[in-house]
Amino acid sequence: MSDAPKRCTFCGSSHTEKQSDFGTSVMVRQYYCLDCKSAFEWIKWGDEAELDLPDFLKDK
Ligand SMILES: [Zn+2]
Repeated sequence: MSDAPKRCTFCGSSHTEKQSDFGTSVMVRQYYCLDCKSAFEWIKWGDEAELDLPDFLKDK
């Protein structure tokens, strides 16, 4: 897991900076987009990894 800036969820820019390790809950980080000047949150456990789906949701 890295602290690298994430893409803005609004405009898709990677020109973002991390604001805080804790957003509205301990599960999210807050980032700030320098292009569209919007704050957005990133769910930590959703970082780069695929969501770990329960077995019964995987292929049938
Ligand atoms: Zn943006």
